[in-house]
Amino acid sequence: MRAVALHEDALVVESSVWRTTCTVLRSGDECFVVDSPVLPEELELLPGLLEQAGFAFSGLLATHGDWDHLLGRLAFPGAAIAVAETTAARLRADPGGAQRSLREFDERFYLERAAPLSLGQVEALAVPGYCELGGHELELHPADGHTVDGMAVWAPWLAILVCGDYLSPIEIPMPEAGIDAYLATLARLEHLVEQATHVIPGHGSAMGCDQALTVLAEDRLYLTTLLDGGEAAVPKGRRDTARIHSANIARLDCE
Ligand SMILES: [Zn+2]
Repeated sequence: MRAVALHEDALVVESSVWRTTCTVLRSGDECFVVDSPVLPEELELLPGLLEQAGFAFSGLLATHGDWDHLLGRLAFPGAAIAVAETTAARLRADPGGAQRSLREFDERFYLERAAPLSLGQVEALAVPGYCELGGHELELHPADGHTVDGMAVWAPWLAILVCGDYLSPIEIPMPEAGIDAYLATLARLEHLVEQATHVIPGHGSAMGCDQALTVLAEDRLYLTTLLDGGEAAVPKGRRDTARIHSANIARLDCE
């Protein structure tokens, strides 16, 4: 696990698995933890890391309903987790789905956890909308296309964008809920990225504005070419591309 301070009020923790990010945003004496690392030790270390940094934990947010982003309550049992309305609906429609996927993952890698995952009372946030944090307001923007649900979180006073599973410098797009929706999300994110000092993708390191715009342009070109039936050039420098690219082509045949 890697932890990087982007600002005195913002930390990013990167899991060793899939480099899943967990972002900590502070304003005044409150702080939110957005998404989660994946491995048991990483989740155990998280509360101590916040304490060391002098961040007083207030609550959990998740950018979308994929299980690897939902593990915050394993680090902060009893905390409320807030998600977009679309994510709350997805979780309601598949009760126990995240827990099942987590158990499959743990089984595959023989991992032990101190307690099973319970999401508790999930709070549904209106998106687009706002969410208050210590005297500032986080802006919540719809981010669907990777999955049917989700939101991007924009902290205007920090110029930090936490975008969920978009704009990853290490993973090509996975438009599980449709390429058109994914492209529409990229278009919505673009104008936030242009104003951002840091863009934090769901997987991979935080980027500056220029790098994030490069990733956005590469992903847009890849997806539009795929949609047009052309031989899409897979963006360079990403991981596991052969598998994800074939899944994207297979999905296209079903659309
Ligand atoms: Zn993810």
